[in-house]
Amino acid sequence: MIEINVDKKEKTYFILMIIVTVLLVVPMVFLLPILLPLALFLLVGQGLLIGYVKGNGVRVSEQQFPDIYKVVVRQSATLGLQTIPKVYIMESGGLLNAFATSFLGFNYVVLYSELVEVSYDKGRDVVEFVIGHELGHIKRNHINKKLMTFPAQLVPFLAQAYSRACEYTCDNIGYSLNQKGAEQGILVLAAGPKLAKKMNAVAFYKQQYTETGFWVWLSEKLAYHPNLSKRVKLEKDTLVIGRPLKEQDDFVQEKVSEPTVNMEDYSNYLPKN
Ligand SMILES: [Zn+2]
Repeated sequence: MIEINVDKKEKTYFILMIIVTVLLVVPMVFLLPILLPLALFLLVGQGLLIGYVKGNGVRVSEQQFPDIYKVVVRQSATLGLQTIPKVYIMESGGLLNAFATSFLGFNYVVLYSELVEVSYDKGRDVVEFVIGHELGHIKRNHINKKLMTFPAQLVPFLAQAYSRACEYTCDNIGYSLNQKGAEQGILVLAAGPKLAKKMNAVAFYKQQYTETGFWVWLSEKLAYHPNLSKRVKLEKDTLVIGRPLKEQDDFVQEKVSEPTVNMEDYSNYLPKN
């Protein structure tokens, strides 16, 4: 059993986005001549992105990076995902990143190769946290929720606030799946794999209270991810990522049922096509 801590703000902002979407539907009918081509443009753009990923990325499978694939299968089962997302590794010119997306009903996770290299250099914890974080976006249906509330995505500050809340939720999910990887992962994202091990994590955590001001505030309010230093927490001298499970009142607790499949029988989770 794993407990998912859904950031309370995620639900609040999602309700706000639904309200804004409903309010904007009527005025947007008059903008259909502009919006329809825009929607088509976005659909084609997404299709091209997925096409590029499929054509150039390395599809993770039982034959290709099977150890990474096992992590995906295990975490998908733990989170109760209906189908295993298609996972690709892509060369990224040194970028440490990953993202989850969906297209025409299929879910995809892209892991940048530098990030996967970290896992082979330093153990699998970091990549387990990152995969868990990205599967969290799929578990919480974040991508489709953003599509469903497309008009609200055009409202400055609101869309970003919702997105940041989603990121906190997925940090919680990744943290639940691999705590050690979560701690290392944020530091790696901040300073890169080599410098991360030399970092003073507590000093980095304290930056959120010392590196402040209007521009720091505005920069985060317009960002879709929280500031990295704010993704690190200190709980009784222990660093945690996301928010501590014990702060029950800050969270809506959601129970995820135990995986009911035989963990060794991966055929249940093989992609459908
Ligand atoms: Zn994320």
